[in-house]
Amino acid sequence: MRTNPITIKQIFKDHWPDYLTKNPNTPDYVIKQVEKMLACRNPQKLGYHVYQCQDHPWECKFIPNTCKSRFCNSCGKKATDEFIAKLQTIFPATPFHHITFTIPDSLRELFNKNRFLLNCLFIAAAKTILSYYQQKKKILPLITAALHTFGRKVNFNCHIHLFVTAIGLVLENGKPTNHLTKCTYIPFAMLHKRYRYLLIASLKKTIKKYLKNPQPHYYADPQLSVFNHPGTLDTFFDPLLEINWYVHDSQELPPERLTIPYAVRYSKRPPIAESRIIRYELREDFNSQWCVTFTCKPHNQREFTETRPALDFIKLLIQHILPPHFRQIRYYGVLSNRIRKQLLPTVFAALAYEQELIRQETWRERQINLTGIDPLACPICHKPMKLVEVVYFSSTLGFLRSYRPP
Ligand SMILES: [Zn+2]
Ligand SMILES: [Zn+2]
Ligand SMILES: [Zn+2]
Repeated sequence: MRTNPITIKQIFKDHWPDYLTKNPNTPDYVIKQVEKMLACRNPQKLGYHVYQCQDHPWECKFIPNTCKSRFCNSCGKKATDEFIAKLQTIFPATPFHHITFTIPDSLRELFNKNRFLLNCLFIAAAKTILSYYQQKKKILPLITAALHTFGRKVNFNCHIHLFVTAIGLVLENGKPTNHLTKCTYIPFAMLHKRYRYLLIASLKKTIKKYLKNPQPHYYADPQLSVFNHPGTLDTFFDPLLEINWYVHDSQELPPERLTIPYAVRYSKRPPIAESRIIRYELREDFNSQWCVTFTCKPHNQREFTETRPALDFIKLLIQHILPPHFRQIRYYGVLSNRIRKQLLPTVFAALAYEQELIRQETWRERQINLTGIDPLACPICHKPMKLVEVVYFSSTLGFLRSYRPP
C-alpha cells in the first residue's frame, strides 16, 4: 500500500516541458522513455483493451494500456518482480561471492558522456573472474552481473555488482563435465590488478574501434575524437594502471545472503524509490522554485536528506536512462545465453535440485492476487468478460490503430 502521494510522474508532468525547453540537447532515447512513462495508462496516447460480457453486451470494460518503460515506476515494479522470480529459478542456493567492480573517479565523466563504454565494465569484470575459474581452477561457475549507474545521492557513479557461485562444473580439456566442484579461495589482490588491466585494455580497444567507424547510435561525446591524436590513449589511460581502485569483494557467503534481488531492483525502474521522496514544494529559500526533498541512506551510515530544484531532480534521474537495448543485467559462465539451456539442468541435477518452472502471471491474475477482485468479471453474471477490441499505438505509423481478435 502506498502512503506517499508524491509520484515521480507528477514531478515530471509539472516540469518536463520546461526542462526540455532549457535542455534542447537531451538525447532522443531519453525523451522517448520519459514521454512513454508520462503516457502510461493514457488511453488517448497508448490505447486500451475492451472487454465485453457475452450474455450482457452492454457490460463493457476499458483497460488502458501501460507503457512498459524502464523509467515508469508502476510498470517497472511489475517487471522487477517478474524478473526477480525468474532469477531465483536460475541462480541456485549455493555459497557464492559478491564482488563490486568500480572505476577511478577520473573516469566517471568519460563513462557518463559515452554510455557505450559501459560495456567495457561488464567485459572486464566477467573476464577477470571467469578466466581465474576456468584457467586456474578448471571449473565453469554461474555468474550474474548487474550494472548500477547511481551512487547514494542518485549521482552518476557506475559500478558492477557481480555474483559468482563458489561451485562450478568441472572442465576437462576445456569442456564442461557433469560434475560440480567447489572453489574455496579467490586471490582478490591479484584479481584487482587483472581487472584494472582488462578494463583499460578494453576501453582503449573500444574507443579505437569507435573512432575508426563512428556511429550515431552510440551517442558518443564529440570530444572523444581527442583520442585520434597518436599516443593520447596511452598517456590518458596508462597512469591509471598504477593507482589502486576500490574493488569490494566478499568472502564466501551463504546462500541466504544472496543480494541479487537488491542489486537488480533498479535495473528496470527509476533509480529512486518513490517512498524516498518526502517533500515536493515551492521553496522561498530556493529562489521560489519547486523543489524535491528525498532521503539518502548510505550503507552503514545515518540517513540524511537532499533538496534539489525540480529541474535538477529531473536531470539527476534521467541521466540513468541508458541507450535502447542496453542490457543492464548480464550472465556468464553456465548462465551465458549460449549454453544455459544445455548446462543449467546439469548443475541442478548435480545439486539434486528441482528446477522450478515459473509461468508469468497475467494482468488479470495479478489484479486478483493484489486486490482479491476479478477485474474482468461481469458485474451481473460474474462470468469473465471476453476481449473484443484492442486499440494500440503504432510507433511506425505514429497513431492509434485497432483490431478485433477472432
Ligand atoms: Zn508505465
Ligand atoms: Zn550498487
Ligand atoms: Zn454478464
